[in-house]
Amino acid sequence: MMKFTDEELIVVKKLEILKNEAGSHSPGIFTFRQKLPEVEIKIDACFLSNPYATDLFIEYFNKEILETGRIRDLLECYPSQNGVIAEILADFLAINPQHIFIGNGAIEIIQAVIHNFTEKKIMINIPTFSSYYEYVKEGVEVIYNELSKAEDYSLDVDRYIAKVKFYRPDTIVLINPNNPNGAYTRIVDVQRILDELWFVKNIIVDESFIHFAYESQSYQLVSLSNLVAENPNLIVIKSMSKDFGVAGIRAGYGIMKQEYVQQLLSRGYLWNSNGLAEYFFRLYTRSDFAMRYDILRVKYIVETLEFIKELRQLPYIKVYPSMANFVLIELTNGIMASDFVAKLLISYGIYIRTCDDKIGLEGQFIRLASRSRTENNYIINSLRCCLEMNVVLDLIDEKAI
Ligand SMILES: *Cc1c(COP(=O)(O)O)cnc(C)c1O
Repeated sequence: MMKFTDEELIVVKKLEILKNEAGSHSPGIFTFRQKLPEVEIKIDACFLSNPYATDLFIEYFNKEILETGRIRDLLECYPSQNGVIAEILADFLAINPQHIFIGNGAIEIIQAVIHNFTEKKIMINIPTFSSYYEYVKEGVEVIYNELSKAEDYSLDVDRYIAKVKFYRPDTIVLINPNNPNGAYTRIVDVQRILDELWFVKNIIVDESFIHFAYESQSYQLVSLSNLVAENPNLIVIKSMSKDFGVAGIRAGYGIMKQEYVQQLLSRGYLWNSNGLAEYFFRLYTRSDFAMRYDILRVKYIVETLEFIKELRQLPYIKVYPSMANFVLIELTNGIMASDFVAKLLISYGIYIRTCDDKIGLEGQFIRLASRSRTENNYIINSLRCCLEMNVVLDLIDEKAI
């Protein structure tokens, strides 16, 4: 049991209410400031972004937009149309612009694709990012493919293929690396899935965390987006929020067959971007930005590996394997995940995510993001104190009885 003072218990209660109000996502930082001003968040390790990438974006933004007064254009003018921004990305990604659909965040693309192209049956691996099953239309059957705890929630590709062949869904979803556990499926295996499951109408691969994954010691970026041309059933969805640290500007894109892009555009989405997102997309495709970003990407990957290694030294937790910028952690000491999250927040100002609302997880789980090296050190020390202190208090309690 976690121990709280009476004052802390009031905060615990308020936290519970905020979490319930936020549904299957976590309350954001603005909500906290407004509704729980007594709690000071020092480190947000709930949201999964690369802080160095945010710094880089801000540096460019200050220099090119704020200091030059160009902010006025971004605010006063319409952003470019969907197809125009697609053209900007096309060269950089080496993909035909007709295959690119720009979204107001990836979540808009998930919703658009599932609403428009999933007809009868969707198969989703769990645990997962909840929008994939929450946004299905009424009447669509959802089949959950439960990833196995004994296999650390990684995807067994052969069993997966067999299951899809058995259930025959028209849409399948693969988040790679997966959220909330970070398990990664290698490109050769995804390729095998594509080859074997050619008959599935929509194969959605969500690469929102792909910039943190690698298959070689050079940490080179891996992506399926250039396979869409030869695999018309493949839909690659990409959020820029996490690996570029810009969730606030709502930028994402989808790569899919031309016919799908045209159908979506004929139903709206003309000016669904905004000035800031357009500026970001233009920056993303510039070689000076891309080169600097890549250095920070690798630095962050290396620091995240160190962070995970240190987490593995801590007592009373199990750290699941991850190739993303976060880890799924199981509390193995009988502590409730929600209590642990509350304690870390109240006593150390660290905000992490409970996973007790995630279907497909059995046990007490939290998800923890990697931050800057200094912040990671503070997180490690706080976690250690929190875990060890709890054991000491339990011992004292037993003696008292
Ligand atoms: C965060 C997330 C998204 C949504 O990203 P936005 O671009 O911010 O809408 C989509 N897919 C996964 C797997 C995510 O974790």
